[in-house]
Amino acid sequence: MNDSPANPSRRLFLEIAPATLAAGALGAYGQSVQEVEAGEHSRSASMPLGQENGALFAANPDSETPPPTDHGSLPAFKYPFSVAHKRIEPGGWTRQVTVSDLGISKTIAGVEMRLDPGGIRELHWHSAAEWAIMLYGGARITCIDPDGRSFVDDVKEGDIWNFPAGYPHSIQGLQPDGCEFLLVFDDGAFDEYETILVTDWMAHTPPSIIEKNFGVPASAFPSQPSEGLYIFPGTIPGPLAMDQRAAAGNLGTSRLPFDYRLTSTEPTKRTRGGEVRIVDSRNFPVSGTVAAAHVTLHPGGLREMHWHPNADEWQYYIKGKGRMTTFAAASRARTMDFQEGDVGYIRQNFPHYIENTGDTDLVFLEIFKSHQYQDVSLSNWLTHLPPQLVMDHLKITRETLDKFPHEEAVLMPL
Ligand code: MN
Ligand code: MN
Repeated sequence: MNDSPANPSRRLFLEIAPATLAAGALGAYGQSVQEVEAGEHSRSASMPLGQENGALFAANPDSETPPPTDHGSLPAFKYPFSVAHKRIEPGGWTRQVTVSDLGISKTIAGVEMRLDPGGIRELHWHSAAEWAIMLYGGARITCIDPDGRSFVDDVKEGDIWNFPAGYPHSIQGLQPDGCEFLLVFDDGAFDEYETILVTDWMAHTPPSIIEKNFGVPASAFPSQPSEGLYIFPGTIPGPLAMDQRAAAGNLGTSRLPFDYRLTSTEPTKRTRGGEVRIVDSRNFPVSGTVAAAHVTLHPGGLREMHWHPNADEWQYYIKGKGRMTTFAAASRARTMDFQEGDVGYIRQNFPHYIENTGDTDLVFLEIFKSHQYQDVSLSNWLTHLPPQLVMDHLKITRETLDKFPHEEAVLMPL
């Protein structure tokens, strides 16, 4: 960077900054990082009226006092489920975060759902694929494959499932306390309240057609609720094997597993910083449009600086506290804080890191609309180039470069 008359803030920086400070980086809006930092620790940062939402203030320290390296304007990339409308019905509740709530989340929408023991998410299907993870308790799930073969299984905490677009399915809470889970859809505009419900369809079909279709008198069918059941209390299911046999009938069961024991499998990578499990169509073939990483990051650990060349990243924070900075071209960088129940989003190719800022493990999901998980590690890239090329860019010695991790670290320890 040149100390030229065209760059007055750079000249000012050189006049006031001790030579030992990192050179060159500009903070917010043309001021040096050091000037911004000084401002943040002076009267300039005070709020005489004290107008703050206390809980939000405490949860967002990096919005309140951004790292001085943040710069320019990037749209918000966080939305807490806690401010989503909750639809509560006998049998359970649900709430969703879609592109209507979080404007940049164009490729993925998310839904949280709770079902009582016996509570049923009605038999239904939709035009997006559904990827899901059980967060608490257990459920019985059902689906059917294109050969008409049935799938019935029980899922517990840490298990995932995937129902491709148009495959009809159901979810029912089990004893002792039902379940809570996260649903992820491969379309940011997906609306959980606009799915095709079996009773809704029946209610809007002439009784004479019902009679012909099923070969039973229309009088045998009570009238169906005109807007469907959606979530409702049902009968606690019996033994799994019995339900599987009854559903299979003479066709047998589906050869395609629609679920996967994600957190019971060995991690894809384990380091002193934590562990990560990657699941996509390579180890879970039915998941043709959604790839995921389940990350556990120990206190102080860092999900290393990286980006994803093939898809936007939708995040869901399961436990703990962390912060993420997204960097974009043209000196734009913004840091936001995350905790349980928050959704985060990063556009394809935008670099980022995630740091555990709490004193417990940070557990979160990275979700991609893709058949395959892909990322590029900054460390791995910089250590697989001609060394002099990297040294010329970063003005570092060979000794410093040699200390960088020489492979994709994924998770760095404190
Ligand atoms: Mn569904
Ligand atoms: Mn990422």
